[in-house]
Amino acid sequence: MSNTMTDQDFGEKPVERRDTDNYVKEYTESFVDKWDDLIDWDSRAKSEGDFFIQELKKRGAKRVLDVATGTGFHSVRLLEAGFDVVSVDGAPEMLVKAFENGRKRGHILRTTQADWRELNRDIYGRYDAVVCLGNSFTHLFNENDRRKALAEFYAALNHDGVLILDQRNYDAILDHGYSSAHTFYYCGDNVSVYPEHVDDGLARFRYAFPDKSVFHLNMFPLRKPYVRRLMREVGFQNIETYGDFKETYHDTEPDFFIHVASKK
Ligand code: SAM
Repeated sequence: MSNTMTDQDFGEKPVERRDTDNYVKEYTESFVDKWDDLIDWDSRAKSEGDFFIQELKKRGAKRVLDVATGTGFHSVRLLEAGFDVVSVDGAPEMLVKAFENGRKRGHILRTTQADWRELNRDIYGRYDAVVCLGNSFTHLFNENDRRKALAEFYAALNHDGVLILDQRNYDAILDHGYSSAHTFYYCGDNVSVYPEHVDDGLARFRYAFPDKSVFHLNMFPLRKPYVRRLMREVGFQNIETYGDFKETYHDTEPDFFIHVASKK
């Protein structure tokens, strides 16, 4: 498989790289730059609507911790919607890009570099909401890491706080296989995305760009009931799961699930 212009590191056998710490080597400068050049924030905002903003407002949230800031899309949207936002990510390249993106739109993002597994070592105070969006939780490759991350999110919240975490619908991919007809296109036909390898422990997605450069992400295929169970086990009392921003869905249909987990 051609892999031009990539500075990503998956070692000799990429499908054997199933390691929580690898995300920092996957979100490299060239991948991050290309992604942000092509995914237009305005069209992304339009397709996402104001689901997250409404969910947060409904719950009276004011202080929000964006734990998967990436290039800053949600942090900036939430700031512009009037929330008090702190932006966390474990990958330094991402935070640099997020800060630049914030500046371009007239904001100074309050960024903190932290890995979720040690989140509370690096942040201060408690939040009304933690958001972990853009299919990010999938980067954790073992159950201890997932439990630890969720427990850290729980601890960062006020007593009545809420965690909003989304994930790709891996149940559909694992149970019904994957056909090329299901290639996801972002921004028209600019970026084609499909899982090049899928088994119970790995979904390796391929991202092909118009200049023929190809990048990959290795992710853990999270099943929806499993994520809900983990959330309950770390203490979240009430978990509502939405499919593609709607309350009713047929399990195989949505591309994404959004879990809204409250402490109370
Ligand atoms: N939310 C952004 C968006 O939707 O555009 C970024 C999503 S990106 C798929 C996932 C982000 O999660 C990356 O920026 C990555 O660095 C971060 N991440 C993954 N695992 C992490 C961990 N263990 N601790 C902190 N950040 C992590």
